[in-house]
Amino acid sequence: MSSNFCRQCGAKLVPKELENEGIVPYCPQCGQYRFPQYNVAVSMIVINEEKDEILLIQQYGKKSYVLVAGYVSRGESLEDAVAREVKEETGMTVSHMKFNCTQFFEKSDTLMCNFTAFVKDASEMDPNYEVDSYAWFTREEARANIRPGSLAEHFLVTYLNE
Ligand SMILES: [Zn+2]
Repeated sequence: MSSNFCRQCGAKLVPKELENEGIVPYCPQCGQYRFPQYNVAVSMIVINEEKDEILLIQQYGKKSYVLVAGYVSRGESLEDAVAREVKEETGMTVSHMKFNCTQFFEKSDTLMCNFTAFVKDASEMDPNYEVDSYAWFTREEARANIRPGSLAEHFLVTYLNE
């Protein structure tokens, strides 16, 4: 695992006690503690409150549908990231949100945090360059159209089965 080595100099980390933190990986070469680091992202089941329809998007030239998602910036709360990413990618304003669940995605070293993001005004829809195409689905249509085997599918099915 890369987390066993210093991200600055590559030296092997050793466990060392840090006051009030317990045992933390330490780089003897840099003389610094190296807390584990990974990426954090948010994934959103965007729902049109009026029609109870779910937004799915197509991205990066692929034909299957996924959820709106994006990385959380350093210093940003998950809630702010949800509202910002929905606004950036779709143009729509999130009226309220509900936390669903999280899952670690090994391939991109990312903790994915899933929310339901409710929008009141779907006429604001103005997708940016990251979105190839989009569509609104009923719950059962969304379940049938989400990319099979994807983390997006896991989040959507977990939500729909609640
Ligand atoms: Zn180092």
